[in-house]
Amino acid sequence: MAATEYRRRERFLPFSRPTLGEEEKTEVLDSLNSGWITTGPKVVRFEEMFKERLGVNSAVSVNSGTAGLHVAVAALELGPEDEVIVPSITWAATSNVVELCGARTVFADVDPDTICMDPDDTAARITGRTRAIIPVHYAGQPADLGRFRSMTAGGNIALIQDAAHALGASYDGREIGSSGETCVFSFHPTKNITAGEGGMVTLNNEDIAERLRLLRFHGVSREARNRSGTGALAYDVILPGWKYNMLDIQAALGIHQLKKLDSMNARRRELAERYDLLLADVPEITPLGRVKYPATHSWHIYVVKLSTEAVGLDRDAFASALAEENIGTGLHFPPLHLSSYYRRKYGYEPGSLPNAEDAGKRIFSLPLFPLMTEEDQDDVVMALRKVIADNHR
Ligand SMILES: *Cc1c(COP(=O)(O)O)cnc(C)c1O
Repeated sequence: MAATEYRRRERFLPFSRPTLGEEEKTEVLDSLNSGWITTGPKVVRFEEMFKERLGVNSAVSVNSGTAGLHVAVAALELGPEDEVIVPSITWAATSNVVELCGARTVFADVDPDTICMDPDDTAARITGRTRAIIPVHYAGQPADLGRFRSMTAGGNIALIQDAAHALGASYDGREIGSSGETCVFSFHPTKNITAGEGGMVTLNNEDIAERLRLLRFHGVSREARNRSGTGALAYDVILPGWKYNMLDIQAALGIHQLKKLDSMNARRRELAERYDLLLADVPEITPLGRVKYPATHSWHIYVVKLSTEAVGLDRDAFASALAEENIGTGLHFPPLHLSSYYRRKYGYEPGSLPNAEDAGKRIFSLPLFPLMTEEDQDDVVMALRKVIADNHR
């Protein structure tokens, strides 16, 4: 399209927006009117819906995905020499919880094409002190679970899936979270479903699930938690836990969001496939590759790589130029091993994880959310073309 035909869109298009309807509003009002707004019957219902959907024994709700990762790692009772391997391209929560649990983070590189945690690089970083591996299903594309399962098969290394992006995705024909391995979901407003904020840990191991329930609520004993209405008052504190319980007003959103998950994900997929077509003849912008093993994508985000060489702008300048055209973008994520804390603690230098570092300079996320229209999407692609044309070397 010639630059003369270009028209800047009038209203800013955010990179993500939640899809909230009348059902969510009515359910929240029901909580507010009932006099019971904190953890209660709606949280129980939301947990039951998760168990039913995924066919697992336990679904432990928490007030964020981060809290879910925190209790899942805390349940491993790691020591200061213990190591947990996580990918470098992830949200800070994945490794921060390892640090908060007093253990050591070991960063693994990512596949240059899909940005999923690289199994070969991960395997090379396993030592006698490795106690857990936390693969991230990046952007909604499952990590290569078969490979990570074989690395953790002996039972000495735990496998915790960071499935914050992957609700509704599947690996080898099975929905993520249905295997019964510890799997952590997030309901932050940008994720595939939202509860305002919130998280869920799904698993089949009832002993670990009970430990997670203790850790999410002050370490107060199950007996005490379960006897509201019986008139009994005494309780015991078994260990020092956190205050990570989900509220009923959060679950009120989540209950209706989960019912809409499949239709919302289908819309995400339609838009993603349309982006693939629209971007096919924009050589400066490359969508991420698809994994080679059987998997379905939940399309939490649509990530592309910028050819900074061809455009003559770095990624941040390019994103600022798009913002000038009223197009919002996201950054998921800069390489964590080069952030100040991790560099200071572990001495990482540039060059240590080359794929993560190269991706970190190029990737950004285009607007993608179920309520987005095809006109919105056309605006994004026209703005990309305009910024490229304005700056082309
Ligand atoms: C969003 C996210 C989390 C944390 O979830 P919150 O609900 O925001 O605490 C963890 N890991 C990844 C990869 C995420 O994108």
